[in-house]
Amino acid sequence: MDQKNIPYARQLVDDEDVAAAAAVLQGDWLTTGPEVGRFEAELAEYAGARHGVAVCNGTAALDCAMHALGIGPGDEVIVPAMTFVATANCVLYNGGLPVFADVDPDTLLMDPVHVESLVTPRTRAVLAVDYAGQPCDYAALRRITVRHGLALADDACHSLGASLEGSPVSALADVTVFSFHPVKHITTGEGGMIVTSDEALASAMRRHRNHGIDLDARQREGMGRYAYDMTSLGRNYRLTDFQSALGRSQLRKMPAWIARRRQLAARYDALLPGLAGVVSLGVRAGVGHAYHLYVVRIDPDACGVTRDDVFNGMREQGIGVNVHYLPTHLHTYYRERLGTAPGMCPVAERAGGQVLSLPMYPGLSDAQQDRVVEILAAVLARSGASK
Ligand SMILES: *Cc1c(COP(=O)(O)O)cnc(C)c1O
Repeated sequence: MDQKNIPYARQLVDDEDVAAAAAVLQGDWLTTGPEVGRFEAELAEYAGARHGVAVCNGTAALDCAMHALGIGPGDEVIVPAMTFVATANCVLYNGGLPVFADVDPDTLLMDPVHVESLVTPRTRAVLAVDYAGQPCDYAALRRITVRHGLALADDACHSLGASLEGSPVSALADVTVFSFHPVKHITTGEGGMIVTSDEALASAMRRHRNHGIDLDARQREGMGRYAYDMTSLGRNYRLTDFQSALGRSQLRKMPAWIARRRQLAARYDALLPGLAGVVSLGVRAGVGHAYHLYVVRIDPDACGVTRDDVFNGMREQGIGVNVHYLPTHLHTYYRERLGTAPGMCPVAERAGGQVLSLPMYPGLSDAQQDRVVEILAAVLARSGASK
């Protein structure tokens, strides 16, 4: 990467990681082998759940979770409007209907009051998203799912390493989904995992990732048998053994990486308040934040410039800021197929025009972060003055 450009996120892959993956590449098992099971056990333990099911990406993990929860035609699943499209798409893959809940204006986390107002006799589950790395209000969400007999799932693609009141994130929902895309906390290139403490859900997800077949090839080989039975219409969502070796090696760095992300967040918290119109998101009491993203809102009334002005100005200076997200219900597909429209989730819609993700990754140095803030200040001053 060139020295001048600073991306919003970046993976760290060191020689140890490369050696771990390379050692597997010339072994006996290229795809499902012993590294997959080890990665599942280690990540489940780190995340605080009994079972892990590794799959080929986070979207496949969400699909497995919806399948295991029995989501099908006619079923509604409540998802937040402020998320990546995959959160809602996984409901559609299973024939269900995603129903969009608005978010809290301070944290941009799913608003439990709006969630409960959307429950109908067809609602089967709530799929929460720990936006930016902050766990949602699971006490409130759990009260709602218990009251209405719903499942509670967590799209935790932002929140590996997060906690709430001391509980690790995967102890908070029935199923918890992680992604190992390079912008996320740890990477396997592409990859994902679902963790759960429910044995039946874990075994349904294991079958779903392997064509709906009861035994995988390595298990059959170990038992000396060829026969298998396909009991449901599954997929091929397998993660390879060399990716799992990379994931295990990455996972060992998580404690240090989370600490560094929190340090960088604390520095932004200290550096940004001097800039009028730049507002950091709120963090709820009791949250151990994983800071996948550091999101600010650009308030045009307070600084005289729009988020898009700031985005363009910073990109021109080589600072790779980004936007998470255009609310999902405003995408063309959703509007045309589901009839969603502006006005359904006003808080998320307003935030969608204001949010900006600043560079946040463990390899970001203090000096680089200072440069990000200096350039942000200069862009605000220049654009504000020209208005
Ligand atoms: C990254 C992400 C996903 C999808 O993960 P992939 O591994 O890219 O398929 C789903 N939901 C959220 C909130 C994400 O950030």
